[in-house]
Amino acid sequence: MSTMRVTRLEAVPVSVPLREPFTSALGTQTTSDYGIVLAEADDGSLGVGEISLIWHGDGAALCDAVNTLLAPAVVGMNPFEVTRFQAVAADVLAFGRHSLAAVAGVETALLDLAGQAAGQPVHSLLGGLARDRVPLSMSLPVAPVPQVLARAAELAGQGFRTVKVKGAGDHDLLVAAVAALRAEHGPGLGIRVDLNMACRLAKDAVTLVRRLEPYGVLSVEQPLPAADLDGMAEVRAATAVPIMADESVWSPDDAWRAIRARAADVINIYVPEAGGLTAARRIADLCAVAGVGVAVGSMPELGAGTAAAAHLAFSVPRLDQPSDVAGHLYHAGDVVTTELVIEDGFLLPPTSPGLGVRLDRDRLEACRIR
Ligand SMILES: [Mg+2]
Repeated sequence: MSTMRVTRLEAVPVSVPLREPFTSALGTQTTSDYGIVLAEADDGSLGVGEISLIWHGDGAALCDAVNTLLAPAVVGMNPFEVTRFQAVAADVLAFGRHSLAAVAGVETALLDLAGQAAGQPVHSLLGGLARDRVPLSMSLPVAPVPQVLARAAELAGQGFRTVKVKGAGDHDLLVAAVAALRAEHGPGLGIRVDLNMACRLAKDAVTLVRRLEPYGVLSVEQPLPAADLDGMAEVRAATAVPIMADESVWSPDDAWRAIRARAADVINIYVPEAGGLTAARRIADLCAVAGVGVAVGSMPELGAGTAAAAHLAFSVPRLDQPSDVAGHLYHAGDVVTTELVIEDGFLLPPTSPGLGVRLDRDRLEACRIR
């Protein structure tokens, strides 16, 4: 039994540019303003976690919450005791969804420490490998059809087998892009569609999803606003394409509500929105019990957050759709190096003890928000 203790906890706000601006129904993202969590233990090891959250575009406030509220409570804790940590975090942090990303970042750093101490990758602490590779999906921003085709051809040339087409208000543009992708690549390309809540009414979403049916899409993600579970259920019932919930489901209790409302065929699970790997796993377990499909989503995360998502994707009981576990590829630079290996569009399992990332202190300083 480990008697290891956390001796220091710090969150550093960072800003890392994307390789190119990314446009979806949520707007245009040019940088990821996140946080990096550093947890030191009494055996001299360093655990790394990431606070990733696009929703208000600034990890700095969450880093401040970690440094002022969580750090005093976490120092002295055994990093293996993540269930106890979750209870402490719930007591210490103000109620609010955004704080889930901070909890996730700290829990990831604790699990990194625990995995290193155990000499095992983090996925071993979550039940071990349930699969030997994870099919990846790469996202295509909202753009004119020729640009969508060009980017998809580039990705296909790199070996990726599934793309996710982002849709916004212009439904004709979305249908044209999906039709053009199918015409150019044939049945071999997996096509996902993500509306990021772009439809206002269930009947509009039904009309749009029916227009997409002939092109054999794997799923249509979050056609309606997050709270409209009844509408999502209506779209599901009226169409043949699997409907995926993303913005509707952050935490395990959201997943429970979405499952009870029959709002989704598949739930897209995010480590930061769930509140960490163990909460994300709880959602996956709910899905397994309820017969609902699972995908793993991305903010997109930097390397540390992507590694956390990878450990989840490799260990969940079911994984039904190609997943977005490649956030680091969208960024120009990083503050860690990862051991993530992608082969023929599949992610291979991390094998090093812990999270499998190495912090680059110089890069951390270069990206630090002051
Ligand atoms: Mg989504």
